[in-house]
Amino acid sequence: MRRLAFVMAWFFAPSVVAEDIELTGRLEQGGLALGKSAPGSRVVFNNREIAVTSEGVFVLGFDRDAPAAAQLMITSVTGETRQQTLSIQRRQWQIEHVTGLPQKLVTPDPATEAKIAADNKLMLAARERTEATPYFRRGFIKPAEGRISGVFGSQRILNGVPRSPHVGLDIAAPVGTPVRAAADGIVSLAKADMILTGQTIVIEHGFGLDSVYIHMSEIGVKEGAHVKQGDVIGAIGQSGRANGPHLHFGVTWFNTRLDPETVLTVLPANSN
Ligand SMILES: [Zn+2]
Repeated sequence: MRRLAFVMAWFFAPSVVAEDIELTGRLEQGGLALGKSAPGSRVVFNNREIAVTSEGVFVLGFDRDAPAAAQLMITSVTGETRQQTLSIQRRQWQIEHVTGLPQKLVTPDPATEAKIAADNKLMLAARERTEATPYFRRGFIKPAEGRISGVFGSQRILNGVPRSPHVGLDIAAPVGTPVRAAADGIVSLAKADMILTGQTIVIEHGFGLDSVYIHMSEIGVKEGAHVKQGDVIGAIGQSGRANGPHLHFGVTWFNTRLDPETVLTVLPANSN
């Protein structure tokens, strides 16, 4: 396992109590790290205050296109603030050609465009929702069995036209194959008729860490439901913009897209 663990020592003026901040995970584009600070600390990451458990644990996510540096600021319970620049490793992305998609979903007409914009608003709102319970600490499992037909980060050429990168993991399997909750959490979106993503579920796993399941043929949970890891939440399909039956599995930290394969490595099931 390419699991990276290291301890960052913080050296400050002698008046500051020495304190170690521990970060485990992957500091790379699409990566996820877990931090541990002294209980009661406040953590600001790239100017956003983030949730910290009572034991001082927090989550950091790095976008596919994250710049080489990120800023972490930790304020102890006694008010001392330490700032640290994190180096985020660049990654190389594949180029992926996808053909045979309905042309109206690759170059949508204005009415379809408006529906896509409305869908995006719902997705954004779901991603901004957070749960105070760190369900993610019990780890993640792959939500379906099947062939990996698309990886995170690829530059996509749809019907010959360059489009946004692919920000999930595609698992191809026959229509009806069960889709399971990757981790415990609360269903924050369950919608059957989204234009590009088709039958779509978002589950919030606490602290802004979400999993996303799209292109399904059926949805078996309702918004607000509490799901356990491994619960069947739907079935693989081909709804939305898909050229064959597969599950698109995404993981996001607020609006930051993470590589699901990295998340499965950094937070394996029963990791806590
Ligand atoms: Zn996909």
